[in-house]
Amino acid sequence: MQGYFVTGTDTDAGKTTVTAALSVLLGREGARPLVIKPVQTGCLKKGQSLLVPDVACVQSFGGEACALHCYEPPCSPHLAADLAGEKLCCQDLACEVREKALGRTVLVEGAGGLHVPLNESEDMLDLMQALSLPAVLVVANKLGCLNHARLSLEAMQARGLAVAGMVLIRTLPDTHYDAGCGAEAVQADEERILSDNVISLKRMGEALSVPLLADIPYLGDPFDREALLLSLQPAASVLQEKLDAQCSHEKERAEDLAFDREHLWHPYTSASKPLPVFMVRSVHDNKLVLDDGRELIDGMSSWWCAVHGYGNDRLKKAMQRQLAVMSHVMFGGITHRPAIELARRLIPLVPEGLDHLFYADSGSVSVEVALKMAVQYQISKGRPQRQKFLTPMGGYHGDTQGAMSVCDPVTGMHTLFNRLLPDHLFMERPSCRFDKPFDPASLDDARRFLKAYGDEIAAIILEPVVQGAGGMWFYHPDYLKGLYALCKERDILLIADEIATGFGRTGKLFACEWAGITPDICCLGKALTGGMMTGAVTMCTTNVAQGIGAADEEHGGGILMHGPTFMANPLFCAAALASIDELLASPWQERVLQIEARLKEGLSSLRSHTSVRDVRVLGAIGVVETAEPVNMRTLQAFFVEHGVWIRPFNHLIYLMPPFVTPLQDIDRLCVAVRSAVQEGCI
Ligand code: PMP
Repeated sequence: MQGYFVTGTDTDAGKTTVTAALSVLLGREGARPLVIKPVQTGCLKKGQSLLVPDVACVQSFGGEACALHCYEPPCSPHLAADLAGEKLCCQDLACEVREKALGRTVLVEGAGGLHVPLNESEDMLDLMQALSLPAVLVVANKLGCLNHARLSLEAMQARGLAVAGMVLIRTLPDTHYDAGCGAEAVQADEERILSDNVISLKRMGEALSVPLLADIPYLGDPFDREALLLSLQPAASVLQEKLDAQCSHEKERAEDLAFDREHLWHPYTSASKPLPVFMVRSVHDNKLVLDDGRELIDGMSSWWCAVHGYGNDRLKKAMQRQLAVMSHVMFGGITHRPAIELARRLIPLVPEGLDHLFYADSGSVSVEVALKMAVQYQISKGRPQRQKFLTPMGGYHGDTQGAMSVCDPVTGMHTLFNRLLPDHLFMERPSCRFDKPFDPASLDDARRFLKAYGDEIAAIILEPVVQGAGGMWFYHPDYLKGLYALCKERDILLIADEIATGFGRTGKLFACEWAGITPDICCLGKALTGGMMTGAVTMCTTNVAQGIGAADEEHGGGILMHGPTFMANPLFCAAALASIDELLASPWQERVLQIEARLKEGLSSLRSHTSVRDVRVLGAIGVVETAEPVNMRTLQAFFVEHGVWIRPFNHLIYLMPPFVTPLQDIDRLCVAVRSAVQEGCI
């Protein structure tokens, strides 16, 4: 959809007049635009029908206009809708506008200013963002308009909206004062103010890269239509030029994609023969919006992160506030409130006893730190020979070298890097399923390794209960419990990599809770910031921290040898704090349970399909394991065609949607997966 959103500094700023005139002028320059008024209040009852004033105004100019929701009371949309027993919703309004536009150029006219409420939580600015049209700001030339204009411009720009320009308009006559008692002097003052508004607004616009497109004088009552058209003509020409530039958008996008293909590496792809990528233009709630306007239901939470969906207000505002106060500062020799507050919030939340915290800048780095902690702990205990890690097959812990060395050797491509990676110990994948009775024999292999190599092992590292990228396997919590007990027998540390499972995904806040254990070291990342920022933490018990800390010079000097540049980045801390608040304030457990039930309902029937090896669901994770590796290229395209974003790999089609996903969208994700299997697309 192309066109403009016409908004104003206030109610009665002159938006409708400007919109009506622009619709005529743009019509002369190019395609005749359709004026759409998403919400109109203050309509007049005329017999059985309603007279919609703004539509009538546009039509009186010879333009074409329609209003989508019309109410009689001359008040704010939220109140008018409420009185009519209706509820306006921003995304629905945006869809209706798009449907009405049907490929035509549009001028969408707001109601009042930017923060006019549409319902109790959304306002006009939210609608503008949902439509993502460039804005034209109509400024009523009067005392106070500089303040209103600046606030409006900054609010729009803070939301990433393009502002095509401002139109300044005098809506009151030059002589609207009562005659007598110094009226002339007052009028001279007023004239000075209004003339200065033009200069000051221009200056303000230059500072914010928003041109002042027109300065329209007072045009009488009823106003002089021809004079208005004449004074807006140059503005219309500029806006038409920008529209023409919007038209070349498709060509630009094709160039962007070609550049991407030529120069950018995407995860796990070839640089010379990359798989296709889809251009995402924006995101909201549980949706990804593609550049061509198609909306996809997100089934991936951007690889476990976006548990609150996208564009969550609490998270965005917390980050904006933090940015306004303090950007990044080094953490060496410095501390700050966001870092302290986040630790204060995390320590009582995680399994009890993880009282020390190291800020890392990504999940992989937090794993590196965990490995170093474990080795330093063993050194501090006088066991420097304990440098190996024991880990189950099918694990995944990140892509840096240390992390990679404890990933599944096949999927981690260890043969490719065998000179680079240290040799660690790989035991059988935990064989007992989450949903079957526990078989104690599943710990036999761990026992065997511990017996044979116990003196060389610093720690066992594993993902608690859910193995993620290495195979999406859910194993029995008693396995974890048993492993923990075996570790304790030999003072071998247990590192729980909760980077994917943490913050509710499995139905517990942390997956270790299924086994009722506190690991010695725990890595958290991904959903920690709700997907807003990179960042992770490595937490450990006092025993580990004090052990490392107490070491003498010969055994490491008590210093943990790590310190990333972006350690405890304040923006990351602010995002994480807000994300934790948001999660805890939400009925996340109930939501995850509901998602789990819907995923079971939607995917179970596939179990009997010949091309499916297994179907498993736990918490907000649904997995369909296929008999043969999937064809990613065709399957990805199939899913996009079906309006969902699901990224399969290898033998796995899996869903881990944001917790805020409406249940009907969970059903749509499942329908897409079922169709892919049933139509032989895998
Ligand atoms: N551990 C696990 C269990 C993960 O799922 C991931 C990411 N997929 C990582 C570690 C690595 O995290 P990052 O990508 O942030 O480095």
